[in-house]
Amino acid sequence: MGGDTKESCPRYPDAYNELVNDPVEVIGGGLAGCECAYQLAERGVPVRLWEMRPRRTTPAHKTGDLAELVCSNSLRSDDPHHAAGLLKREMEALGSLIIAAARASAVPAGSALAVDRHRFASRITETLTSHPLIQIERREKTELPTGDAVIATGPLTSPDMSRALTELLGSEHLYFYDSIAPIVDSESLDESKLFAASRYDKGEGDDYLNAPFDREQYLAFHRAIVEAEVSPLHDFEQTLFFEGCLPIEELARRGVDTLRFGPMKPVGLRTPDGSRPHAVVQFRREDLARSQYNLVGFQSRMKWGEQKRVFRMIPGLENARFTRLGQVHRNTFLNSPIHLNRFYRLKTRPRIRIAGQITGVEGYLESAATGLAAGLYLSLERAGVSASALPVATALGALARHLTESNPARFQPANINYGLFPELGPELGPELDPEFKRRSKRHQRRQALAERARDALLAWCRDHRVEVVQPQPAKDGKVLTCAS
Ligand SMILES: Cc1cc2nc3c(=O)[nH]c(=O)nc-3n(C[C@H](O)[C@H](O)[C@H](O)COP(=O)(O)OP(=O)(O)OC[C@H]3O[C@@H](n4cnc5c(N)ncnc54)[C@H](O)[C@@H]3O)c2cc1C
Repeated sequence: MGGDTKESCPRYPDAYNELVNDPVEVIGGGLAGCECAYQLAERGVPVRLWEMRPRRTTPAHKTGDLAELVCSNSLRSDDPHHAAGLLKREMEALGSLIIAAARASAVPAGSALAVDRHRFASRITETLTSHPLIQIERREKTELPTGDAVIATGPLTSPDMSRALTELLGSEHLYFYDSIAPIVDSESLDESKLFAASRYDKGEGDDYLNAPFDREQYLAFHRAIVEAEVSPLHDFEQTLFFEGCLPIEELARRGVDTLRFGPMKPVGLRTPDGSRPHAVVQFRREDLARSQYNLVGFQSRMKWGEQKRVFRMIPGLENARFTRLGQVHRNTFLNSPIHLNRFYRLKTRPRIRIAGQITGVEGYLESAATGLAAGLYLSLERAGVSASALPVATALGALARHLTESNPARFQPANINYGLFPELGPELGPELDPEFKRRSKRHQRRQALAERARDALLAWCRDHRVEVVQPQPAKDGKVLTCAS
């Protein structure tokens, strides 16, 4: 074995033989793989962690560090009632390495948890390198292991590993690019400017909301798109622009009417007064609760500030809150609803688990969260515990629900957000004071969902005898923890 040699292992004397003979193979030392390896090792399960960098790199990574952040340095909101803040609390309660390292290397960023990326990655690299139950192999893994394994090779999985997965799962179930349209919070829409209708009256009448444009509005919108600043293109992304998946700014540059014959075509749609608009933006609902809508066909590479500015020109979106903005980049991810179960196991090869962005979650935080869950389940299995899946009322469970219960024909990567959670039932929700409900329904709903999640996680941990770790207080002193 070409990895670091562990000569003694006083903390885990019984596990040392396993380290040599029967380690879990974790492939990929990114956010998910590092969290997964740490969870396993801290729970007494030996791990061989494979990371191909720095010998072989990806088009986005720059260093040989484990858990390198390839782009932004933010792990999103740290507000405990925000879905991303709640997910952090749950991960902390389960002893997350990624969140502990993020807190230890945090830089001021308002209500977000942002990090000094070098300190963050160094801390994780040191922790895992010095762990007595983790052996690190700095090599590319090109074949699927036969024993217990977690594949966490990320959106830029090496070509050989992509091939191995394709051979196992079929190429139609592994996507190689990702074009993401923005998502908007429905409560921030001005519905008086929108009308509900499906094109040619197909489907349910209220599956779509439509924003109609007159000619002047359309021309101003077109001009704003053409003039907006776009993110610089990585070399490897050039090849990704094929006709079925063009960013709207690329379409807009082809001619003033190209959008009107593409994602903004008005055909098959009439406003309630019977007229045909000059152009239309369609919003497709993202979830059963209609808490979010997707801007259909609006994948974009405009800078995020520009997207907010330009998309707020759409009638009805003047005060829009975006829960996701448009993106186009390479992304390798499975059609997880077909292939994974709630324990992150491949249905056809149950000893192989998949974690990280390659499952179809989106983002550093969510990727680490799936690594945590996969490692936790596998450690319970190795301890002989028959585990039930984390409750869907928790953020960790809601992510797994998205991966396993979404419609496979329309499966798209998602960040954690409350649209993925089951709605509050009357028996679960708090008594809503009508006045407070009028003024701050959204805040109160989020608080109730977060508290329900905390209770569900604590009960699950009690049932499975999983220790709950006391997290560090959040910067703003807000107190929702999973350890109370
Ligand atoms: C261009 C780009 C920009 C992004 N920007 C953001 C952002 O700003 N914010 C955000 O939250 N998310 C962003 N993402 C998504 C981000 O990649 C994920 O959120 C996160 O890094 C995924 O974690 P992961 O562990 O699944 O994969 P990664 O962190 O990518 O880790 C996978 C690891 O596996 C290694 N590997 C791959 N194949 C093999 C193999 N065969 N053998 C051994 N090792 C292998 C890789 O070297 C890598 O270290 C971006 C992605 C891309 C591609």
